[in-house]
Amino acid sequence: MSPEEYSSKNKKKTSIWIIGFVIILITAVSVTFFYNSTAAYAIKVENKLVGIVKQKQDIENVINKLTAEAENKYGREVKPQLNLTYEKMKGFDVEISTEQQLVEKLKPYFNYKVEAVNIIVDGKSIVTVKDKASAQKVIEEVKETFSEKNENVKTESVEIQEDIEFEPVFADPEDIVQEEKAVNILLRGTDEIKVHEVKKGESLWLIAHNNRMTVKDLKKANPQVQSEILQIGQKLNLVVPKPYLNVLTVEEKTYNRAIPYTTKIEYDRNMWTWEQKVKQRGVYGTKEVTAKIYKENGKEIKREIIEEKVLKEPVERILIRGTKAAPSRGTGRFIWPATGRISSPFGPRGREFHTGVDIAAPYNTPIKAADSGTVTFAGWQGGYGRLVIVSHGNGFETYYAHANKILVKVGEAVEKGEQIALVGSSGRSTGPHLHFEIRKNGKPLNPLNYFEK
Ligand SMILES: [Zn+2]
Repeated sequence: MSPEEYSSKNKKKTSIWIIGFVIILITAVSVTFFYNSTAAYAIKVENKLVGIVKQKQDIENVINKLTAEAENKYGREVKPQLNLTYEKMKGFDVEISTEQQLVEKLKPYFNYKVEAVNIIVDGKSIVTVKDKASAQKVIEEVKETFSEKNENVKTESVEIQEDIEFEPVFADPEDIVQEEKAVNILLRGTDEIKVHEVKKGESLWLIAHNNRMTVKDLKKANPQVQSEILQIGQKLNLVVPKPYLNVLTVEEKTYNRAIPYTTKIEYDRNMWTWEQKVKQRGVYGTKEVTAKIYKENGKEIKREIIEEKVLKEPVERILIRGTKAAPSRGTGRFIWPATGRISSPFGPRGREFHTGVDIAAPYNTPIKAADSGTVTFAGWQGGYGRLVIVSHGNGFETYYAHANKILVKVGEAVEKGEQIALVGSSGRSTGPHLHFEIRKNGKPLNPLNYFEK
């Protein structure tokens, strides 16, 4: 073998080695490249496989899409709360999840919190609302609830007795309540509404009993119920308010009130003591009252009158009373009780004894008390017909019989000369006349002996 031959043979061997190496290299690179190009990521949430993606960007796109949906729904920035882990997968045979599959799988785990504000009452978180402005609005509404809306009412102060703070938090969107609901919770302790419609035969006690409440609580839940009597169909609230907030309101209110009238009594010597006349009718006046009204949760607890202005003075009632008293005892001297002639004198009359004198007079001639005294009989008595008996307090009595009309009552004091009856023909009588008797200790006397001259 020539040295050239040997050299050429060696050269050939080296080339084969190089070519082989290159082929192996290319294959290795290609395999590695291909292997890597088909690699994927397994996405796990809480150790559960939710999908496989080729690139991390794919899952990020899905999260962004869900976040955008939530932001759209709540109209504010949200913070996804999602604990994702990626695991690189090697192999040629992995099934890549579609976007739709990823959305479906991720949704149940897709929690997020949003910025919100807690309303803290005396250090305790009571409700969560969407932001500070909303919290302020809720507190304003709580204050407004008990303010009377009226042109005659000026709200002086509204104070919530509890300490209120707003605390910024990230909250579960489900826990954020609307303003109206927040107001209800703060003022009633709950937003639960349970209403009972009154049925026939139901009482407060029965409704309370059936709903495991006390009557006191049922009344507390229904301050509008004033009496024990319920109307069928009336609606009763079954939830007892347990307010977190107590609102103290001070209002200045102006309103009109009636002023009662006073009564003045004037005396008239010419009227009997039992007589009374209204000289002037009493009329109520009007005053404008300005008062400070203190209320707790709308319930008045105190009222201070600040000013009273008289708009219309009351009109005094004037009564006239008589001062003329009938003397309790007669004078023992009598006046003639009726105008007329004596038609039958005192004394024996045939077989009878005439116990008085008859004075003939037309119907309705006034009959006057012959002396002052007290009426002891006024009514019908047998043959006397309509009879008035006056006792003069000194053993003397006078009888006035056959009257057409009696003008006095038993017990009434009469003055000498006062009209007590009208002449008639009642009882045993043949024509209009006054049968007049004077008796002393029950015994009839001849009246003609007792007349004043
Ligand atoms: Zn007679």
